[in-house]
Amino acid sequence: IEFFFFFLNLSFILKVIVTVTNLFCSTGQDYWSNKYPYCGGSFQSPIHITSDLLRFSPTLRPIEVRNYKLSSTEQLTLRNDGHSLKLSLPPTMYVAGLPNQFTAAQLHFHWGSSNWPTGSEHLVDSKKFAAELHIVHYNSDKYPDINTAIDKSDGLAVLGVLIKRLSSKVNQILLHICYFVFSDFEVRVPGFNVRELLPARLDEYYRYDGSLTTPPCFPSVLWTVFRNHVTISRHFQFPSVL
Ligand SMILES: [Zn+2]
Repeated sequence: IEFFFFFLNLSFILKVIVTVTNLFCSTGQDYWSNKYPYCGGSFQSPIHITSDLLRFSPTLRPIEVRNYKLSSTEQLTLRNDGHSLKLSLPPTMYVAGLPNQFTAAQLHFHWGSSNWPTGSEHLVDSKKFAAELHIVHYNSDKYPDINTAIDKSDGLAVLGVLIKRLSSKVNQILLHICYFVFSDFEVRVPGFNVRELLPARLDEYYRYDGSLTTPPCFPSVLWTVFRNHVTISRHFQFPSVL
């Protein structure tokens, strides 16, 4: 009986740990729509991109990124907000080649865990990737800042980059951060060339109208997911300061 009791306790503790981990390190997306009405709607991102859904559009232009090469004298804020690693970006960075000018606000990563190493949000032909980078921009032709733009149908443009394999060093650091979900932190890091995080070709991408991938899931995002994946470059320095 004691053993059984111990087992029950243990399974309860494990359940709590799993729940807490899911809350902070994963998504728990099945329950989002109860609290956030937009979640699970027809514009819900991410999506499964399948070849049979794709149509070539001759009207789309290559993505043009501007001022992505930041000076190392520029100070960026890297923040672990408990469920993602987010880096602030200066308003000098923007994307052209879209219906409006979209100014950069922040970038962040989605990644997996040791049990679940494929953490990309978008799937391409049933394939998940190790991680995914999102560079978030807001429509600065129409809105003064990201907070005003976030719930507008033409408010945001996100560039999504699928990351095939992280170098073991970066991978470890990212996992490490996820384990420290409760130690909310913020550090200042020097600027770097953000263009290096994108694939070489910016004219091959998947485009669709979607949403924020996490609550409140506003259907406000013009998505560009690059067709070519990247591996994280050794020149990419920001985690090394942690
Ligand atoms: Zn994201």
